[in-house]
Amino acid sequence: MACTVPVVVVVTGTLQKEAWDLKVLPPVEQVRPGLWSIPVPIPNNPLRYVLVYALELDGGGVALVDAGWNTDEAWTALGDGLAAAGGSMSDVRAVMVTHIHPDHYGLAGRVREASGAWIGLHPADAVMLESRYGDTDALLDDMSHFLADSGVPADKLPDLTFASMILKSMVTMAAPDVLFEDGGDVDLPGWSLRTIWTPGHSPGHVCFYSADRRLLISGDHVLPRITPNISANTQQVPNPLGDYLESLLKVQNLGTDEVLPAHEYRFSDLEGRLEEIITHHAGRLEEIEQVIATLPGSTAWDITVRLHWSRPWDDIEPFMQRQANGETLAHCILLELHERIRRQGGTPARFYAVAG
Ligand SMILES: [Zn+2]
Ligand SMILES: [Zn+2]
Repeated sequence: MACTVPVVVVVTGTLQKEAWDLKVLPPVEQVRPGLWSIPVPIPNNPLRYVLVYALELDGGGVALVDAGWNTDEAWTALGDGLAAAGGSMSDVRAVMVTHIHPDHYGLAGRVREASGAWIGLHPADAVMLESRYGDTDALLDDMSHFLADSGVPADKLPDLTFASMILKSMVTMAAPDVLFEDGGDVDLPGWSLRTIWTPGHSPGHVCFYSADRRLLISGDHVLPRITPNISANTQQVPNPLGDYLESLLKVQNLGTDEVLPAHEYRFSDLEGRLEEIITHHAGRLEEIEQVIATLPGSTAWDITVRLHWSRPWDDIEPFMQRQANGETLAHCILLELHERIRRQGGTPARFYAVAG
């Protein structure tokens, strides 16, 4: 679950920040010549909207970074945004998806149908499409066992197991036409964009960096106010938090004047923000270590309900509780690897402090 930390970033998307404070949708904005930011609403979600970026291409047409959810409201907002930028849905030549989550990938298939655009995704996310958005029986079965191993109480298991199924309706299944490679240049007329593979938030998350414009399109990897959910789950890599922290370093010292994130608002001082996020996770690791020292034999769920969250635990809906549990587990895995705690396997797995 995304967690708020005290933050002092330099906000450059001042209209977006004002809109955030007023709890309204920010305007469509021209961020640079030929580069537009289009907010696409997310229904019933604290993130409120995803920022889709539209890049005008030499010779006509636009490329999108991310697309939004597959809802009619999102579809209309994206179409209206493209019109405000002087184009239309049929002008889209490419949908470059930063990662598999429904708020980024959900509409990509519909945009391709309307425009003939190619869809790009990293292979590590592309391999999960069928199990996540196609036939989900195996995934649900795995998830139920996984949650039981985490110590989720039996009466909560069904709610937490099925918590993400509502999201499935917000996605059109669409296999990518292009698979992004780490460090590869994206082939777009008039743009020199480098793909940076940043696993952590999802195994195939990518950012796009423009050296000549000194811009980083960061997806969910680096956001100005919240930290993205980094969860252990049945489809994750063995050490997602370790990967995420390494991925933060991959976007450090590129020469970035402004970060264009997928949520909230644009900002500068990327290096400062990276430090804050690293510090946040170091604090979280310590907090978890302390809970385990106080309550030897805690399960991931026991730890999770005792941590500090931005809202009272019982007010948090099942999907977010599941993400919170996954996030705790991701921290526990890293603590285990650093030999700060040890795990006693079984259902549920229990954690103990390492003496000395
Ligand atoms: Zn995401
Ligand atoms: Zn997102």
